[in-house]
Amino acid sequence: MPHIRPTAKHVRHVLMFLIIPAVSTATGAAFAQTEWKSGIVWPQPPVVDPGPEGKTVGSPPPGAIVLFDGKDLSQWHGGRRWLVADGVATSRGGSISTKQSFGDCRVHVEWASPSKVSGHGQGRGNSGVYMMGKYEVQILDSYNNETYFDGQAGAIYKQSPPMVNACRGPGRWQTFDVVFRAPRFNKDGSLQSPAALTVLHNGMVVQNNFQLLGETAWHKPPEYEAHPAKLPIMLQFHGNPVRFRNIWVRELKPIVGKKPEKAKDGKTDLLGCVTLDGKPLSGAVIAFHGSTGKPISTTINDKGRYKLKPLPAGVYKITFKAAGDSAKKIPHRYTQAETSGLVVEVSPQVNAYDFNLSSR
Ligand code: MG
Repeated sequence: MPHIRPTAKHVRHVLMFLIIPAVSTATGAAFAQTEWKSGIVWPQPPVVDPGPEGKTVGSPPPGAIVLFDGKDLSQWHGGRRWLVADGVATSRGGSISTKQSFGDCRVHVEWASPSKVSGHGQGRGNSGVYMMGKYEVQILDSYNNETYFDGQAGAIYKQSPPMVNACRGPGRWQTFDVVFRAPRFNKDGSLQSPAALTVLHNGMVVQNNFQLLGETAWHKPPEYEAHPAKLPIMLQFHGNPVRFRNIWVRELKPIVGKKPEKAKDGKTDLLGCVTLDGKPLSGAVIAFHGSTGKPISTTINDKGRYKLKPLPAGVYKITFKAAGDSAKKIPHRYTQAETSGLVVEVSPQVNAYDFNLSSR
């Protein structure tokens, strides 16, 4: 008789994130301190043309939280300091932070450096999107404006230059699409896994899953300090009137499966699904017939699923007994161990068996 192949069950561990109080704050610029630079000599990112304005403008997708739709900055702490007019928010008077906190997420930001060019290097159209208030994706007018390459637009500040310079000219609208994975910390505060950033600037990938070395401070090397699993996003004010519009965020939540519960003796319950001609065989009784003793049976629920206490390892013949509405549906051959043709081999490694019966 043919053996029924067990169904592989995808099992994922549920990750628990440790919540540790934040002990540090991000600062946009600490001019009183001595500047730190990495010392690494980066080659200059090549300049590319990202295409016309409007091509990469993104509408909020389903599930997105709109952080600025042109009306007001009520979603932001400090938002009243900035000027909101004609659907545009202009930075002034200090950085702003979202009232809501975020961990893993995708962020869309549209920004424009001032039309009238003043200043140079880091002083020209400087702002920044700080994930968790700590990890900066640099905003800068990098159109014909040279500065250190890991400090230009699209850089992970002082850690990774953009792969290309996709900056449009002064005053023109630009997009950032940021995919962020928050860092994880162990119980003792040590780093479990680093923060990671993927960034598209005007539709061009400028960072590809870059794993951060720590916070992107201006005045010291990057290092991690344990912090909560979710923190606000910050938009930097660096003394330049940078304009913003159409800002939204979408939290990223992986699908998490549930591992079947283990009995005290370490054995796992038997699980499975039963269909007849593709429909759940609800209400019928499934029985596992071992070589000795009485068969072990249970009733199939209304979704066609069954669950049994752990069985000793061995070969079992399977039968189905009609009950309730299922009485006239089950072909006779499936009701007898000698004729059902259904055999499974129960082992400690396998705990799920599905059966797809046919009336033909
Ligand atoms: Mg900045």
